[in-house]
Amino acid sequence: MADLATGETVHVSETRRHAYLIVLVVLPPVALIAGVAVAWGRAVGPLDVLFAFVLYTVNIFGISVGYHRLLTHRSFRCPRPVRVAFALAGALALQGPPTLWAAEHRRHHKYSDRPGDPHSPWAYGDTGFALLRGLLHAQVGWFYSSRRRSNREHWVPDLLADPDIRRVDAAYPAIAAASFLLPAAAGGLLSWSWAGFWTALFWAGLVRYAVVHHVTWSVNSIAHCFGDRAFSARDRSSNVRWVALLTFGEGWHNWHHIEPTSARHGVLKGQTDPSAALIRLLERLGCAHDVRWPSPARVEMQANRHRARNPMHQDAGSRSPRERR
Ligand SMILES: [Zn+2]
Ligand SMILES: [Zn+2]
Repeated sequence: MADLATGETVHVSETRRHAYLIVLVVLPPVALIAGVAVAWGRAVGPLDVLFAFVLYTVNIFGISVGYHRLLTHRSFRCPRPVRVAFALAGALALQGPPTLWAAEHRRHHKYSDRPGDPHSPWAYGDTGFALLRGLLHAQVGWFYSSRRRSNREHWVPDLLADPDIRRVDAAYPAIAAASFLLPAAAGGLLSWSWAGFWTALFWAGLVRYAVVHHVTWSVNSIAHCFGDRAFSARDRSSNVRWVALLTFGEGWHNWHHIEPTSARHGVLKGQTDPSAALIRLLERLGCAHDVRWPSPARVEMQANRHRARNPMHQDAGSRSPRERR
């Protein structure tokens, strides 16, 4: 196990670990399997699809722009209502309260793919079964197997000092309930039927939550293992196009580990980054300021450094940085 400095982690009780096992490891795949079984031979209502799609979009932006780029890495600043809205959107994704999510993620950046990283796919070794085990660990296993969680007092004192974020933390159980009940209530009211309530609860609640979880966690597993690299990060972070597509830009993970505070992760041509586009839009509307856009010169310098170190791998590193911010 990691030999961490005193105070970086806190003990997790058996009860809590079993709760994580049920809520974070077991329930999402069960929901997905049930989703396929229910869909087999039975149509999904258009309202179910609409609610699931809307909540998916809110959740992914809530995690990517809210929890990750705003709260964890402080890539931009914004007015208080916008900050609270992003914290709520992230909390609705059911990946934990904002301070805990940010604490685990800051620890991930400090120790990425080394002892101390809470979820490296390389935790057990580099090949064969060890890597498969590592991928499962990075995807969901660590929620249950880790006997210690990141200590919030150590990792996120700035967020703990923010009364708004503390309120979102305290309201997390209610927000989690709302994440299921809101789409169910909307489905019931708009179709004026109990069937509409239950199918919306199932599709836009349970199945959406499972999909959002595994899409987000693919960044921790897949984008630290497969894909290409254009920059020489000190870890194994990589770029995976389909992960970037599903996570609205988070799959361009290689640059993110070079410059974690950068508001844009997809810095090369062709690397579409909807989360950066949303931050840009907010900036234009006056709802975001002090945005840390990456410098094209720095991107070029890092790409050149990678090319110099890897003369045999010109493909991924040869793309030029995008011109616009
Ligand atoms: Zn990472
Ligand atoms: Zn990060």
